[in-house]
Amino acid sequence: MEAPEAPTVPVAESGAESDAAQRILNRVFGYDSFRGEQRAIVDQVIGGGDALVLMPTGGGKSLCYQIPALVRDGVGVVVSPLIALMQDQVDALSALGVRAGFLNSTQFPDERRTVEAQFAAGELDLLYLAPERLRMESTAQLLDRGRIALFAIDEAHCVSQWGHDFRPDYLALSMLHERWPDVPRIALTATATEKTRDEIITRLDLGGARRFVASFDRPNIQYRIEPKNRPDRQLLEFLRAEHPGDAGIVYCLSRNSVEKTAAFLTENGIRAVPYHAGLDNRTRAENQARFLREEGLVVVATIAFGMGIDKPDVRFVAHLDLPKSVEGYYQETGRAGRDGLPSTAWMVYGLQDVVQQRKLIETSEGDAAHRRRLQLHLDAMLALCETVDCRRAQLLAYFGQPPQPCGNCDTCLNPPESWDGTVAAQKLLSAVLRLKRERGQSFGAGHLIDILLGKKNQKVQQYDHHELSVFGVGTDLRDTQWRGVVRQLLAQGLLAVHGDYGVLTLTEASEAVLFDGRTVALRREPERPTPARAARSAKTGRAAPADLDTADTALFEKLRQWRADTAKEQGVPAYVVFHDATLRDIAARKPADLRELGTVNGVGENKLARYGEQVLEVLAAG
Ligand code: ADP
Ligand code: ZN
Repeated sequence: MEAPEAPTVPVAESGAESDAAQRILNRVFGYDSFRGEQRAIVDQVIGGGDALVLMPTGGGKSLCYQIPALVRDGVGVVVSPLIALMQDQVDALSALGVRAGFLNSTQFPDERRTVEAQFAAGELDLLYLAPERLRMESTAQLLDRGRIALFAIDEAHCVSQWGHDFRPDYLALSMLHERWPDVPRIALTATATEKTRDEIITRLDLGGARRFVASFDRPNIQYRIEPKNRPDRQLLEFLRAEHPGDAGIVYCLSRNSVEKTAAFLTENGIRAVPYHAGLDNRTRAENQARFLREEGLVVVATIAFGMGIDKPDVRFVAHLDLPKSVEGYYQETGRAGRDGLPSTAWMVYGLQDVVQQRKLIETSEGDAAHRRRLQLHLDAMLALCETVDCRRAQLLAYFGQPPQPCGNCDTCLNPPESWDGTVAAQKLLSAVLRLKRERGQSFGAGHLIDILLGKKNQKVQQYDHHELSVFGVGTDLRDTQWRGVVRQLLAQGLLAVHGDYGVLTLTEASEAVLFDGRTVALRREPERPTPARAARSAKTGRAAPADLDTADTALFEKLRQWRADTAKEQGVPAYVVFHDATLRDIAARKPADLRELGTVNGVGENKLARYGEQVLEVLAAG
C-alpha cells in the first residue's frame, strides 16, 4: 500500500527546473515539496533579506538556511551552541554530498587550519561555528577572507535572559550585522513565547526581519499526565507496554534520582544510561554519543540533556518530576518524534512535586520579582497538569496560538469527569484553619489527611488531634483521593504550601470557599491510567509514513539491520544513512529499480548513488 503523500509539484511541468531551491530540495535532500512556510523563508533569505523563524522542533528549520546557503554564492555560516553535535551535523550533510565543516574548541589546531583553508578557498557550502569563536578577532578576520552567503543563528532564544538557556556569548552576535551589513541573517528557534521573541529581535537587531511563526502543534506527539504513586514502577510498565526497544529520554529533577532510575531500568532489562552535570565530561559525551548511535537506548537525564539533539526517532519523552515551566515541558517533550512518527510525552506528577517546586522557589536566589516569575511559570505548569480540557489546546493557548482539541492526548481520549469538590475542600480547609486557630499549629498534607480519615496513629495521639471536631469527617474518600484534592487545591491557589516540611496554609481564596459559598470543581482521578497508545492521529499534518503489515515489517527490520551495519562501518549515527520514515516507505513500496527508489522521500541523488544498489539487494533478498 502506498503512503499518502503531500501534494507534489511535478518538477518539469511547473517550470521548476529553473528553480534552484526546488531543484536542490529534490536532488540533494530527496524531498518532493517544501513544508509549511519553508518555501517563503528560503525565498526571503535567497533574496538577501533577514528572517526570524519560530518553528517547533521537527518542523524543518535546518532546510531554511541550508538551501539558501547552497543557492547563494559563498559559504553559509551557522552559529550554534551545540558543539557536541557539530560532527554529526557535518556527517549528515556530507552524506548528502554537501560540503560542510565546523570550527569549535574541541578540535586540534591542524584540523582547524584545514577547515579555515577550505573556507577561504570557497570549498565549503556550510560552516558551523561555536558562538565563542565569533568573539575572537581572528575569526572575524577569517570570515573577511572568504565569501559569506548568509548567517544562520540557530537556537536563537539563547540570547534571551528571560528564558532558561541564556548564553552570554550570544550577546556578541549583534556584531554580525555591524561588520557585515550586506549579509542576510536568519535566526531560528523552537521557543515561542512573545517575551522571548521580543528579546531576540531587540538583542540581535532584527527589527527589520520578516517573521515566520509556524504552528506549534506537534500532532504526532501524544500528551499524557498521570498521578504519581510509584514512579519507577509506573515508568517500567509504560515502557514495557508501549515502547519496548524504543529510544527515549526520561527526565528527573535530581542527579540522585537519575542514577537510581537508570540502575532500576537496567536491572529490569531495559538498556539505559544516566546523564547529568555531575558526571565527568567523558562519560557524558560517551553516553550522549551512544544515544545518538545505538538503536533503542534510553537516556535518564536531568534537563542538562537534550538541547539540539536532532535524533529523529526518539519515540518517547518521560517526566518523573514536574518541569518548572510550560516552556520547559514543551521543549523537552518536543525532542520526541522529530521524524513525524507517533510518539509519546508521558509524565507522572504528584503532590510531592508541588511541595518540592514551591520550596525551590522559596529558597531560590534572586529578588522578589524573580520569585514571582518562577511562581507564574509553575502555576501555568500546574494548570496544565490539572486541566479537564485538552492538553494540546492548553499548550497552544499558552503560546498564543488558537487551540484545537486534538483527539490525541489523555484528556481527549479518556475525558476526566469533574465533580463538585466543595464539601471535600471545606473539610480540608477547615482542618487547616482549626489547627491554626485552636492550636497555633500547621502541618503537611500527610498528617492532615490522617486526621480527616480518623486514623488514630502515634502522631495523632501525641498531639491529641483525635479530639478535633474534624477528626474522621473525611472517610468518604480514600487516602489517594485526598492527596488528589490537596494537589488540586494547591494548583487552584486555594491552599498554599511552605518550607521543608511542606506545611499547608490558607490563602485569601480559601476563605471564599469556607465562608462565602465559593464552589470548587475537581477532576476525578482515573482509577486506571489512560489506555495505551491511541489510534494513530488521523491528522498528523504531514505525509504519514506507511503503516506496515507483518511482511513489510519484517522487510523494514532487515533494512534497519543493513542500516545499522552500514552506519557502524562509517562511524555515523544510523539516521545519517536513512531515517526510519524513509526505510518504512521503502519497505512498503518495494521499488523495483534505482529510478523508483529515487522517488522515495529522503532519497536524494547522493544517497541513491551511494546506497541504492545495496538497498535493492536487501529488497531482493527479502
Ligand atoms: P528542526 O531543526 O526544526 O527541529 P529538522 O530541520 O531537523 O527540524 O527537520 C526535521 C525532520 O523533517 C528531518 O528529518 C528533516 O529531514 C525532515 N524534513 C524537513 N523538511 C522536509 C520536507 N520539506 N520534506 C520532507 N521532510 C522534511
Ligand atoms: Zn487533546
